Amino acid sequence: MASSSVKVAVRVRPFNSREMNRGAKCVIQMQDKSTCECNTHSDVFFFHFISSFFCLRCEDPSFASQRKVYQDIGEEMLLHAFEGYNVCIFAYGQTGAGKSYTMMGKQDPGQQGIIPQMCEDLFRQTADNTDPDLSFSVEVSYMEIYCERVRDLLNPKSRGALRVREHPIMGPYVEDLSKMAVTNYSDIADLMDTGNKARTVAATNMNETSSRSHAVFTILFTQRRHDNMTSLDTEKVSKISLVDLAGSERADSSGAKGMRLKEGANINKSLTTLGKVISALADMHGTKKRRSDFIPYRDSVLTWLLRENLGGNSRTAMIAALSPADINYEEILSTLRYADRAK
Ligand code: ADP
Repeated sequence: MASSSVKVAVRVRPFNSREMNRGAKCVIQMQDKSTCECNTHSDVFFFHFISSFFCLRCEDPSFASQRKVYQDIGEEMLLHAFEGYNVCIFAYGQTGAGKSYTMMGKQDPGQQGIIPQMCEDLFRQTADNTDPDLSFSVEVSYMEIYCERVRDLLNPKSRGALRVREHPIMGPYVEDLSKMAVTNYSDIADLMDTGNKARTVAATNMNETSSRSHAVFTILFTQRRHDNMTSLDTEKVSKISLVDLAGSERADSSGAKGMRLKEGANINKSLTTLGKVISALADMHGTKKRRSDFIPYRDSVLTWLLRENLGGNSRTAMIAALSPADINYEEILSTLRYADRAK
């Protein structure tokens, strides 16, 4: 199989009321499908494609719906999962930039994010299968990584952090993490609901419900083919990890102290390590060949657990979520730089 590659997309959300009230100006311009300009200082970034741009004060109303974002990114990744690749999609950006909206979205019609749409699509496609020798099974888990500790979102009553271990063949895994077998979309929707309610949210000066943890929704998708001649079954297993990262803003920019500062340091550590891992993989994929043992997966729990989804037999997409407002200029630029390094 081909080596890893990372597809990077940018999504800009509409102005929120706080930005409107402060008379914020739009600082992002999309030149074409692959050029994103942050126009205060004429910083220009090139990406594989721009998924969405919508600015209330610009003439250009080219707003990409949740459906369009799924079609641009999710559909291709699901296709790779059917082909047998491990898949990872993650949303990166400052708190309030639209990561959760992009990954999970809302329950209202047309507002569902990539995760529910992908789950629905997965079951729709397996239901369409007419090959009697092919069968499927789906298991899901949902965890949160907070301060380098893992919590089971599908079993919120489980006390303390779960242990991270390594299986000689399957690689890193979380001991005792609930893995639920599901047979239809409504099973998954119930589990997503349970997990979302359990997610840790804590107030910071930036935003009252600023998310300080990484949420990882995993679908283990198994395709089993029965060979009538030999009576043997062969299995193709794909792990699909869908990650809503913690806010990327620097701890000091939100007036953090004490525990909040520690949280900030841990968040920065995993986001920095994720950036290093992805850019090392991108280098390996391009001309600058590097050996895979230089990739610092072990430096954070997040990257260690995503190892099988990022390198080797995998396909990765990153969505950089952005506010369009000049008052967030520093964070916009830092998100675009991070995304730029991931290509
Ligand atoms: P984050 O997860 O990055 O902290 P959210 O996804 O919670 O941010 O988004 C913050 C707010 O902005 C939410 O109320 C969300 O519904 C809204 N929002 C984000 N992106 C969009 C979008 N593309 N279109 C409409 N509303 C959005």
